[in-house]
Amino acid sequence: MAAALLGGAVAVVVAQNEMSQVEIKTEKLSDHVWVLHGAGGNIGLCSGDDGALLVDDQYAPLSARILAAVKQANDQPLHWEVNTHWHGDHVGGNENMVAAGATLIAHDRVRQRMVEGQNNKFFSRKVEPAPARALPLITFNDSTTLHVNGEDVTAFHVAPAHTDGDVIVWFPRSNVVHMGDTFFSATYPIIDLESGGSINGLIAASERVLKRIGDDTRVIPGHGPTSDKAGLQRYHDMLVGVRAAVVKLVKQGKTLDQTVAAKPTAAWDETWGKGFMKPDLFTKLIWTELSAARKP
Ligand SMILES: [Zn+2]
Repeated sequence: MAAALLGGAVAVVVAQNEMSQVEIKTEKLSDHVWVLHGAGGNIGLCSGDDGALLVDDQYAPLSARILAAVKQANDQPLHWEVNTHWHGDHVGGNENMVAAGATLIAHDRVRQRMVEGQNNKFFSRKVEPAPARALPLITFNDSTTLHVNGEDVTAFHVAPAHTDGDVIVWFPRSNVVHMGDTFFSATYPIIDLESGGSINGLIAASERVLKRIGDDTRVIPGHGPTSDKAGLQRYHDMLVGVRAAVVKLVKQGKTLDQTVAAKPTAAWDETWGKGFMKPDLFTKLIWTELSAARKP
């Protein structure tokens, strides 16, 4: 027991040391929209005379640096925050942002999953139920619009993709879209099957956004550099290609080990396979979903 506690404490210290090195980098996308890159999910910021609106907040140890970057971009009080989904690298600073003045807004399933916590077997990750102050105060089941700073900022839910509570946030006047973790711009994405995620939903979400945006739209991914329509199209095409390659093996009755050994993602690994989701892990994920879907 003591050893386990010590191990846990050591792990936290290491993580905090790493956090202390993180610098928040600010990129301006329009007159009143920015993206903040640090550690964890990319943060959207819409700031103007009505106040500041955040999209996600990374991890609690970074909150002070994030708030400093928000103030530096445009010195306005923080009033609102939309969570794109419930993962800790997007909602980890929620309590601090509430203390700083934000009202939290998210899809119904985000609040529900944060209340419940999770023992995620695929990623060997245990998430404790969130404290009440970290929970979204306003939730919705389809879409909601915030009329602030001259924008009609619309957060809309998509069919289960990265999780079952994903929202994509659209800033029409600035021609910017924040896709949360439905889009990873430089690596294979994480699909959280145990939070209701699905490769099919991920492909559908990118198709829905591709139909709506133009060549000059700035596309903020959950992870990776800011992208555009062409970048989102390449990501979409990779997902479609990988799904087809894995489906073929599943239909042939290949086991998980045989599927991984066949390296169905090989054609895409050079470009997409160097992030957290290594090719074998990504293959395992897709096989796990698609083979389960074929069972009667
Ligand atoms: Zn995520």
